[in-house]
Amino acid sequence: MSDIEQLVTRATAEFAGIDDAATLEQAKARYLGKSGSVTELLKGLGKLDPEARKHAGAAINSAKERIEAALNTRREALRNAALETQLQAEALDITLPGRGLATGGLHPATRTLERIEAIFRSIGFDVADGPEIEDDFHNFTALNTPENHPARSMHDTFYLENAPGLLLRTHTSPIQVRYMETHKPPIRIIAPGRVYRVDSDATHSPMFHQVEGLWIDEDVSFADLKGVFTDFLRNFFEKPDLRTRFRPSFFPFTEPSAEIDMSCVFCDGNGCRVCSHTGWLEIAGSGMVHPNVLKAVGIDSERYIGFAFGMGPDRLTMLRYGVNDLRLFFDGDLRFLSQFR
Ligand SMILES: [Zn+2]
Repeated sequence: MSDIEQLVTRATAEFAGIDDAATLEQAKARYLGKSGSVTELLKGLGKLDPEARKHAGAAINSAKERIEAALNTRREALRNAALETQLQAEALDITLPGRGLATGGLHPATRTLERIEAIFRSIGFDVADGPEIEDDFHNFTALNTPENHPARSMHDTFYLENAPGLLLRTHTSPIQVRYMETHKPPIRIIAPGRVYRVDSDATHSPMFHQVEGLWIDEDVSFADLKGVFTDFLRNFFEKPDLRTRFRPSFFPFTEPSAEIDMSCVFCDGNGCRVCSHTGWLEIAGSGMVHPNVLKAVGIDSERYIGFAFGMGPDRLTMLRYGVNDLRLFFDGDLRFLSQFR
């Protein structure tokens, strides 16, 4: 066999043994590249006499074509193999049964907050927001609760380590303080959000929700508070004949202050186990905003007056849906939550 034929045989065998495209291209360079074996043979043609050059030239060109053909065959085979591997990797078994898509739903606490916001928006209240990590001033001092005031012991507060003066807000009142610092009366807002206290049992959770309301203007009265809040409860529970009563109480940031009770939504005030046979359920705290609170945020307390209230939307949710353990809302148990879809 001539050298040229041996070259073709060697190249074809070498190409056939290569399993990846990059190595194949390197092998191609050794035969067909600028200084490849075939190219070198072609360069040698010039030294031959014309008759011999003709023969040798034809033989080399034929060899070159067959080497190129062997190369292309191997390229094609490698491409097909790669495609086959990819198809197998991406194969869809359409005979597998589907996994199904579960439909989600809003958490009952979210549903209640959205419902409360919608009702208050409908009578002209804005919805305000604020940080959950608060400073001592906005959570206590501005709310007429100075250092050593006994009301501070009413809250078991989570204080932040290594951050003196910072705490997890114990109520959403600091939202109102921040709003009053940056807005002029008339002010009409509700402040919903998460709050934190060191407390945990069937009716208390270390994290829970609160919604507070605030209306500050030149002639807001206690009668407005009674009207607005009673109307809200009737809308929320869809009970047009729901009744409220206001009992004197104490909060440092309101004067006078009152606890709000509503007629029991389970027995319509006739007495049942839920209301301890009193016919009433405690539902909110409220009062006329203390002048010291207005002064702390730079509002003229001689000119402006207003009311504030605060309630626990988690309790409203429990009453509306008949849930008896607050912790169910925060356990993340889908058996419970899926009932609210
Ligand atoms: Zn009752």
